[in-house]
Amino acid sequence: SDHARVANFGAGPSALPVSVLEEASKGLLNFQGTGIGIAELSHRSKEFQAFVNNMESLIRTQLSVPSTHYILFTQGGGSMQFSAVVLNMLARYRLLHPERTEEETVLDYVITGSWSKKAAEEARRLGGAQVNVVVDSRGFSESEKAFDSIPPHDAYKFTEDPALIYYCENETVDGVEFSHEDVSPASFPFQLLGKDGGLVPLVADYSSSFMCRPIPHLADHAIIYAGAQKNIGPAGLTILIVRQDCIVDVDAAAKLGAAPVPITMSYKTLADSGSLYNTPAVLSMYVSGLVLERMQRHGGLKHYEETNKRKAEKVYEVLREGQEKGVFKPKVKEGSGSWMNVVFEVVGQDAEKEFLAGAEQARMTGLKGHRSVGGWSNWRKDHSRRTLILMYTGVRVSLYNAVTEPDVDRFVEYTRQFIAQHST
Ligand code: PLP
Repeated sequence: SDHARVANFGAGPSALPVSVLEEASKGLLNFQGTGIGIAELSHRSKEFQAFVNNMESLIRTQLSVPSTHYILFTQGGGSMQFSAVVLNMLARYRLLHPERTEEETVLDYVITGSWSKKAAEEARRLGGAQVNVVVDSRGFSESEKAFDSIPPHDAYKFTEDPALIYYCENETVDGVEFSHEDVSPASFPFQLLGKDGGLVPLVADYSSSFMCRPIPHLADHAIIYAGAQKNIGPAGLTILIVRQDCIVDVDAAAKLGAAPVPITMSYKTLADSGSLYNTPAVLSMYVSGLVLERMQRHGGLKHYEETNKRKAEKVYEVLREGQEKGVFKPKVKEGSGSWMNVVFEVVGQDAEKEFLAGAEQARMTGLKGHRSVGGWSNWRKDHSRRTLILMYTGVRVSLYNAVTEPDVDRFVEYTRQFIAQHST
């Protein structure tokens, strides 16, 4: 029953709606009256194909995806897209500019946190192009180490004609997110609009903010991708929104010297097969489809945007109270804080441990910060200066769609009590 469940503030895989889990458990036994459970049913069956078509239209309707963009389903998570976006966009670039050398082929990366940094590292690993760091938000931090803000808009140094411009909308580990209130033409990524007659090669990692609110200027993106396991469903499913000019003949590009693209990573393969080139993550898609249906019933993205905004505001407000009392220290600068992942430190020896243990006791879990924040530092090539920084990993409160407002209220109440007990 519900009473056996704890409030899950984990960063992913994360909470799913109870009603969906109950429905899914029925589908596991018998999918839509077929007499066969969803995990046992052929992905080529007409029932499953209809389910996939409906999933696509649920995303298309709720996010207002125009007909210029394909919605594709694949596997491999966000990490596989770190590679796939590069390979597909380099193939596209090669077809557009067959004469350009590797030195003249540039990938623009906007680095605002651990995930965009990782994506840029993968691009460098794959080779075939130069990686230009458009901006690195650590340069704007006092510590020079922390990803704690979105850099000022005039700081971005783009290449003239890059093969892609990459950013991560919400940095899950660092809790840094692009503003969706400032969508003025001066702000990134909107400053790019109108370039190349609208065909900006803009690629966005929306893994941890997909379907939490509408996506501003979605139509101007080349690729938007997200793993399902935060707002949508179980891990195993990756959702792609790809503009049609980015679905290219990768084999023709390879003949012109582009790197060959593995068949399952080629967007053209996915598009041509209706995302069913090979066996998909059937169960993950099923649960995700149920979540998307439920979202539509609940009023779509507008409803989630309003609720998610209120949830985040409540948490940031209690953090401000704690900061004034010297109990908490925010990790992210004002104005750059994420709605989905709120990160902060609890001040004082063992205070964080106490905060987390108290939360667990009150049946709230998943609040521990990402393990890579803090920990080992000063890594040098000769390994001689490797030291353990005794930094607190921090607390991270993830507030994805399935985290209910009553759960957030309970967290706020607990946090307020903690502040009262620890104020100096
Ligand atoms: N991008 C972001 C923003 C993420 O939060 C994550 C995972 O948490 C990833 C990429 C990597 O995703 P995956 O674990 O699905 O490969």
